[in-house]
Amino acid sequence: MSRFFNDKLSKLDAYTPGEQPRDMQYIKLNTNESPYPPSPTVSEAVAVQADILQLYSDPECKELREKLAKLHNVSIDNILVSNGSDDILNFAFAAFSGTGKTAIFPDITYGFYPVFANLNQTKFRTVALNDDFTITPSDYYNAPGPVFIANPNAPTGIALTLDEIENIVTNNPDNVVVIDEAYVDFGAESCYPLTSKYDNLLVVQTFSKSRSLAGGRLGFAIGSKELIADLTTIKFSTNPYSVNRMTMAAGIAAVEDNDYYMDNCKKVAQTRELTVAELEKIGFAVVPSSANFVFAKHPDYEGEYIYTELKKRGVLVRHFSNPKICDYNRITIGSPEQMTKFIEIIKQVVSE
Ligand code: PMP
Repeated sequence: MSRFFNDKLSKLDAYTPGEQPRDMQYIKLNTNESPYPPSPTVSEAVAVQADILQLYSDPECKELREKLAKLHNVSIDNILVSNGSDDILNFAFAAFSGTGKTAIFPDITYGFYPVFANLNQTKFRTVALNDDFTITPSDYYNAPGPVFIANPNAPTGIALTLDEIENIVTNNPDNVVVIDEAYVDFGAESCYPLTSKYDNLLVVQTFSKSRSLAGGRLGFAIGSKELIADLTTIKFSTNPYSVNRMTMAAGIAAVEDNDYYMDNCKKVAQTRELTVAELEKIGFAVVPSSANFVFAKHPDYEGEYIYTELKKRGVLVRHFSNPKICDYNRITIGSPEQMTKFIEIIKQVVSE
């Protein structure tokens, strides 16, 4: 750290992203990417833009927002797009946690929430998940500030129902409820239709998982015109061009090819069920998942041991050192071929 670093930020504990190793070719099941490539029209659209990169992208992202608005049956004023959903979540912490407010979110959830809270110098409080990793919706009623809930939650994969979300929203009339739907397309129900009814609900989604664009960096939010205007103020106060030309074109093409991506999500959900069955056969306890990953532990082996042994054998999964979840590993659902190989290798690990 330099002696010039702002003392308010010097204690910031930055987010640790999942490993992206370059040393060898792994079966990469650690960062919840799609095993399927983007649709062919995406690469064509990107190539066109690559030739005109001397020009800035549209800061209003009008065409992409129009496409997303049409897909979700809302108006363009209800949509914000930016550089990954992380960007938008950061904006939401900045925008909605003012003086006297304390943001709340589960103690086991997406690890970026506390980092964003600290970065934006806002207070936060975590709410313990139940022992089975479920969320009790009423724990989030009458919150002291904005509520952040990943649905399905990460790294557990457990989803709340639409009714449960609606109850959280109606029981927080004076605070924003942010529902992070990064994994919703793999088996949960999106609550975006509720945004037309409630001005305090913000839904955040990403193109990184179900739309095979993790490397493109594109996320979007759906909410009331006013919430979107607040977030837009923050976006335009940081980087109006946060969505570059190539990513914008990729996003537009991806929305046009929606059926391709939704079919891939179904395939991932089928592979997930086969993977769960195989893991259970060899003794794993698997948390019921509505996402493109499963969270699993074995009664006889420590989570870290399984992570390390898999890595030695060329399979990367995600292990968290937090004592509440250190027995577990989060395993992204890859292609059927990758998962067959994974099961073969994990069988070796737990038979030693
Ligand atoms: N929310 C959750 C729950 C996530 O797991 C992730 C991915 N790490 C994100 C948001 C951010 O995704 P992205 O920035 O790639 O859109």
